[in-house]
Amino acid sequence: MDQNISLLQNIITNSNQIVFFGGAGVSTESGIPDFRSVDGLYHQKYAYPPETILSHTFFMDHPAEFYEFHRDKMIYRNAKPNDAHIKLAELENIGKLKAVITQNIDGLHQAVGSKNVLELHGSVHRNSCMRCGKQYDANYILNSLGVPTCACGSLIKPDVVLYEESLDQDILKKAVQYISEAEVLIVGGTSLNVYPAAGLIQYYHGKKMVLINKSSTPYDAHADLIINSPIGETFQKIVLK
Ligand code: ZN
Repeated sequence: MDQNISLLQNIITNSNQIVFFGGAGVSTESGIPDFRSVDGLYHQKYAYPPETILSHTFFMDHPAEFYEFHRDKMIYRNAKPNDAHIKLAELENIGKLKAVITQNIDGLHQAVGSKNVLELHGSVHRNSCMRCGKQYDANYILNSLGVPTCACGSLIKPDVVLYEESLDQDILKKAVQYISEAEVLIVGGTSLNVYPAAGLIQYYHGKKMVLINKSSTPYDAHADLIINSPIGETFQKIVLK
């Protein structure tokens, strides 16, 4: 076992007050690419950059184009949770992990049994009518053609936070509280460059901060342990006891 893994193992074994904060990198090993890593094929298919398509204005003005992108790039029906999702759910189950705070909208933490998941950017699995509030699941969106509409005839919007929209203040407040009370904070799969990730980390005043990310982050100097490896691969080596 390499030294960083045994250090992480010790940190996890010795704390019952762990909080996990994760980003897109947590799901890449499940086959969900970060939409920010734009490829050439993407450019051939879409006339706008993802940041434009995923904005509130674009959604309201071009719902058909928005939903074409949303079905194609944001919903991954066949994605399976990886060892990071699985071990985090087990850590919560045995009482060591208090919360998962995620920037992902794929629902993979809940799919494998995590209960206390704070979804900063919402979820593709919840969609609601903009007029009457009726709820629809991701399959309804995937199986609809063009712009999905409610039984009442109105437009359905995914419960995901689009550009130009603000985060849910209650979820943000809870995230701040969990981070500020954490003894151990494990940050994974995020470069900590995107709001609100960097801001939230500043509320941490615990004993051990672990960063697990394929590349370096602006917070490396604050970390007690840095593991530059894929997070699923890392968690796969951790033994829960
Ligand atoms: Zn409705």
